[in-house]
Amino acid sequence: LMLLCCIVAAAEGTLKYKDPKQPLGARIRDLMNRMTLQEKIGQMVQIERSVATPEVMKKYFIGSVLSGGGSVPSEKATPETWVNMVNEIQKASLSTRLGIPMIYGIDAVHGHNNVYGATIFPHNVGLGVTRDPNLVKRIGAATALEVRATGIPYAFAPCIAVCRDPRWGRCYESYSEDYRIVQQMTEIIPGLQGDLPTKRKGVPFVGGKTKVAACAKHFVGDGGTVRGIDENNTVIDSKGLFGIHMPGYYNAVNKGVATIMVSYSAWNGLRMHANKELVTGFLKNKLKFRGFVISDWQGIDRITTPPHLNYSYSVYAGISAGIDMIMVPYNYTEFIDEISSQIQKKLIPISRIDDALKRILRVKFTMGLFEEPLADLSFANQLGSKEHRELAREAVRKSLVLLKNGKTGAKPLLPLPKKSGKILVAGAHADNLGYQCGGWTITWQGLNGNDHTVGTTILAAVKNTVAPTTQVVYSQNPDANFVKSGKFDYAIVVVGEPPYAEMFGDTTNLTISDPGPSIIGNVCGSVKCVVVVVSGRPVVIQPYVSTIDALVAAWLPGTEGQGVADALFGDYGFTGKLARTWFKSVKQLPMNVGDRHYDPLYPFGFGLTTKPYKM
Ligand code: BGC
Repeated sequence: LMLLCCIVAAAEGTLKYKDPKQPLGARIRDLMNRMTLQEKIGQMVQIERSVATPEVMKKYFIGSVLSGGGSVPSEKATPETWVNMVNEIQKASLSTRLGIPMIYGIDAVHGHNNVYGATIFPHNVGLGVTRDPNLVKRIGAATALEVRATGIPYAFAPCIAVCRDPRWGRCYESYSEDYRIVQQMTEIIPGLQGDLPTKRKGVPFVGGKTKVAACAKHFVGDGGTVRGIDENNTVIDSKGLFGIHMPGYYNAVNKGVATIMVSYSAWNGLRMHANKELVTGFLKNKLKFRGFVISDWQGIDRITTPPHLNYSYSVYAGISAGIDMIMVPYNYTEFIDEISSQIQKKLIPISRIDDALKRILRVKFTMGLFEEPLADLSFANQLGSKEHRELAREAVRKSLVLLKNGKTGAKPLLPLPKKSGKILVAGAHADNLGYQCGGWTITWQGLNGNDHTVGTTILAAVKNTVAPTTQVVYSQNPDANFVKSGKFDYAIVVVGEPPYAEMFGDTTNLTISDPGPSIIGNVCGSVKCVVVVVSGRPVVIQPYVSTIDALVAAWLPGTEGQGVADALFGDYGFTGKLARTWFKSVKQLPMNVGDRHYDPLYPFGFGLTTKPYKM
């Protein structure tokens, strides 16, 4: 038996594709030459973890698995649970004839947001405010480590949408309405993947076990749909598409982004998942993107309206457009049967399958998946580490925008004194980690409350920051009498939007959720007040501005609410500048910087500053 082992091992050692010393191209060719059509098709399929049993992985040679939305192995799962789950799936892949490792992907879009105890960074809408590429690069690096802590090598981030209309429920996933800021922020890609070795421009690059493959999404024009309706139609001429929505992809590709996800949206009526001219003609041929193109969740099905109306056509159109990996994610046999039959009928040429394969394998080889397919717990202590929370806190401070500081003619209210008699903190958003993190946190649509993950609420941060003699009174919904009789020195009112994500976040009124407006009225009418808005986008604020002493946009800051208190109380100055136009009324929408009749409440680039008390 010993001898047999050694013979097998020696034979294996001669397999070119398994030899890391062989050039990448030679490994890819060698492996592809060994693959059956069925094995090739399997590599193109991505399924959801809940259906990824070892049997399924082996039977269909599945190439990739994902956690869709907030899909987790168990509530509050530890890194160990995650690593074991991912490894179990991986072992099944490794046990197949050719032992091609699967690649596991997850939406780590503001930190490792599905995972209990992870550091949740501000959503992109806040990061755009910082205009600090180095900061987002460090966030990318921290996110990569936290994702690796759970045994996962692939993140569906960054979203490089250029959100042109805040009525879109995914606007907070966009760094800015201005493509130049989005371009700057693509620096998160080398943070996630590692710095591209200089000569490899355009070729996917992932620098080993501390890094993850990134995914620029959603190609292209996702942020430009009519009235901000999710997954809708982006009506714009070529100049607009290439001038506003495409530039981010130039940077992403040049920085070696490993994968690009196609948008559900259409461009001038044609679904992006069926757009061969842009996916193959432009992205692959013109930009020379050499990583793989992945569909969105059931993106192929949604080529037709209603979805799945004509699946044969959808599969044909999607694969022909140039999509390499299909996020199926449940009905894998249906997809496999359909694509197999179309290949057999020569509707889809084998060269198209080989193109997809080459790209998928290139990413897998480049990132070292063949050499180190199994994860261990060596990064477990990175999850929610002190360093990462400190980084997130820094990001929160820099993402705040001070929109008003003192009524006309009056002294500025901020920074607030730490030493006072009695202060009021009001509003549900002050004491709600779920609200503070927004959508794509623990669950797909986000959560209400403090028990779902670990972090510091704004209320807790205020209490941490004031002098021990200062009495902090918290009221979720104070009435006018309570405020008047309380004799408060000043009040911090925290209001905003409830959490939401795609499909549920579109709105036409953009109002602060109730009872936010009445809290502002009850409090700001009788006490000096700073209003902190926790929201994924600018909201209707003009009717209240005159009664407010100071106004801060905090966006969706994530778990480190301490960053808000840092700036309110003058440990740090306010530095953020709006990366979005703050409208007066929804009737003005869409309205973006550079528009002809630009008449905002606060223009793009606006932001007051304060000097910190010390430092
Ligand atoms: C979203 C993507 C996401 C994917 C996987 C889709 O619904 O549009 O942004 O990466 O789900 O969860």
